[in-house]
Amino acid sequence: MSHDRSTCLFCKIADGLIPSTRVYEDDEFVAFRDIRPAAQTHVLIIPREHIPTLADCGENEAPLLGRMFVLVARLARELGVSYTGGETGYRTVVNTGPGGGQEVYHLHAHLLAGPRPWQRMG
Ligand code: 5GP
Ligand code: ZN
Repeated sequence: MSHDRSTCLFCKIADGLIPSTRVYEDDEFVAFRDIRPAAQTHVLIIPREHIPTLADCGENEAPLLGRMFVLVARLARELGVSYTGGETGYRTVVNTGPGGGQEVYHLHAHLLAGPRPWQRMG
C-alpha cells in the first residue's frame, strides 16, 4: 500500500476519481460508507489533506483532529446511531500502522454501530 498522495486510494475518493457512497463532505472532510462494512453502520471519515497516519500528527494537526472527532459525533447523530442513553452508542476506531491493522495509509476514523455480532473490529 502506497504512502504517496499521487497513488493514494482515499485521496482519489476525496477527489471523486473513485466512486464512493458519500454521507457528508465539506471543504476539509469527506465521509463515505466502508466498501466492506463490518457493522450495519460503518462510515469512514477522512480529511481531504493527505496525512498518512495518526503517527504523523503533531500539534499542527490538533485543530484538524479536533474537528474530525466533532464531525464523527455529528455524523453519528445524523445517521441515528448516537449515544442517547440506554444501550445506544457507537465505536470510533483509528488504526495506525501495520501493528494497528491499518490498510489504507490516509488518516481515517471508522464510525461503527449496529447490532452485534460485527464482522470485525467488534
Ligand atoms: P484501515 O484498515 O486502514 O483502518 O481501514 C481501511 C478501510 O477502508 C477498510 O475497512 C476497508 O474495507 C475500506 N476500504 C478499502 N478500500 C475501499 C474503497 O475502495 N472504498 C471504500 N468505500 N472503502 C474501502
Ligand atoms: Zn491520501
